Amino acid sequence: MADRDGKIWMDGQMVDWRDAKIHVLTHTLHYGCGAFEGVRAYNTVNGTAIFRLEDHTKRLFNSAKILRMTLPFTQEEVNEAQKAVVRENKLESCYLRPLTWIGSQKLGVSPKGNTIHLMVAAWAWGAYLGEEGLKRGIRVKTSSYTRHHVNITMTQAKAVSNYSNSILANMEATDDGYDEALLLDSSGFVSEGAGENIFIIKDGVIYTPDLSAGALNGITRNTVFHIAQDLGLNIVQKRITRDEVYIADEAFFTGTAAEVTPIRELDRIEIGSGSRGPITEKIQSAFFDIVNGRNPKYAHWLTPV
Ligand code: PMP
Repeated sequence: MADRDGKIWMDGQMVDWRDAKIHVLTHTLHYGCGAFEGVRAYNTVNGTAIFRLEDHTKRLFNSAKILRMTLPFTQEEVNEAQKAVVRENKLESCYLRPLTWIGSQKLGVSPKGNTIHLMVAAWAWGAYLGEEGLKRGIRVKTSSYTRHHVNITMTQAKAVSNYSNSILANMEATDDGYDEALLLDSSGFVSEGAGENIFIIKDGVIYTPDLSAGALNGITRNTVFHIAQDLGLNIVQKRITRDEVYIADEAFFTGTAAEVTPIRELDRIEIGSGSRGPITEKIQSAFFDIVNGRNPKYAHWLTPV
C-alpha cells in the first residue's frame, strides 16, 4: 500500500503518500501501544460526506485517554484533517484511517519521554466482506481464540495491540475456508467478530452482547440501535451463548468496514433459512439509506468534506 500516489496527513502536514514514513525504533511498533479509527465517507445524494465523523474522532480521543496518550491536536483539528484528506485525494467514497502512535525518541516499555503522533490516510475500499456477502450472508467460525478480558487489554479502546487477537482469529477462520471469526469472551459467551459487532434475531426481537463481553462499542452498532427504534423493533443487550446463535432466525455483523453483513452460517450450522433474513434486509437497507444521505432524520451524521 505504500507505493502509490496521493497525500497522507501526518502531524499537521499533507505529505506525499510514498514519503509518509516513520523510524524502525518507533515505540508503538515494538510494544503495540497506539490507537486508530476506521471511518467511511460515502458519495451521498448531497455529495461526499463522512459518516459520524465526530463520533469516530471522539472515540479516537477516548482510546488515547484509556491508553494514557495525550494527543497534540484538538478534536476539531482531527475532524478537519479527515475532511482535508478526502478532498486532497479527490475521493468520492472511501475508508479513512486515523492512527495515533508513540514516537521513536526512546525505547523501553515506559513510553515516557516520547512524542505522540497522528496521521490520517484515506483510500477507496469496497465491501469489506464482499458484495456477495452483503447479499447472501457470510460463513463464520467460532474462534479457538478468546476475546480479550475487559481487564487484560482495555476493550473500549480501539487499540493497535488488541488486533493481534483479531488477526489470529481471522487467519484461523479464513485458513479453514470461512469468511470471518466469531470470538467468545473469557466466560464462553459471544463477544464479537474479529472486526465487527454481532446481532442475532429471534422471534422478532434483536439481541446483541452487552459490552461486558469485551466487544468494542461500535458506532455502526449504535446506528443499528437507532434504526431498530425507527422500525419499531426491540434490541436487548445481554449475554448470548454460541448455541443461541445456531438457533437464531437471523444474524448479522456490523462495522464501519463490514457495514451490515448478514451471517448465514456459524460452524457449518445454517442460521435460519441460511441466507439474508428479512429483518436483516430491512436494517441493512435503512443503514444504506442513512449513510447515502437518503434519510433526512440523520443528515446531522453526515459531514460534507
Ligand atoms: N469490534 C471490533 C473489534 C472492530 O474492530 C470494529 C470496527 N471498528 C467493530 C467492532 C465495529 O465498530 P464500528 O461500527 O465503530 O466500526
